[in-house]
Amino acid sequence: MSRNEKLPRTSPLKPVHVNPVHRASCHCGAVQLDLTLPNGIEDPRRCDCSICRRRGAIAASVSLKNLKVVAGAEQLRLYQFNSMTAKHYFCGICGIYTHHQRRSNPEEYGYNVACLEGINPYDLGEVPLNDGINHPSDRI
Ligand SMILES: [Zn+2]
Repeated sequence: MSRNEKLPRTSPLKPVHVNPVHRASCHCGAVQLDLTLPNGIEDPRRCDCSICRRRGAIAASVSLKNLKVVAGAEQLRLYQFNSMTAKHYFCGICGIYTHHQRRSNPEEYGYNVACLEGINPYDLGEVPLNDGINHPSDRI
């Protein structure tokens, strides 16, 4: 199918098949993650907070114990800002965001859906937008 034949994406969120343990990788392949995803791609969303709006990735949720860095831990760079609570990781070679430990729920990582091997993030359809400007941790 040529690019012009693609239909506009107006459909709601679609189920995308993933393996129970699915491999994720950065662009250069140095960083490899194994994600245990018994419920598939959970809670995928885009976000308009200051960092998400710039990186543009769809992030989904996984508990801390269900994300294992199986290669390239030494290549991961950590970026923190503002409250210095969330931990944003990216590959120091290719620069791709792989995952982050959340500020809103430190028991969870968000991970980059586009890093899942063999998964096209556009197959998810329309992904909800998270209100990152009004972060739950900034509300009193
Ligand atoms: Zn890389």
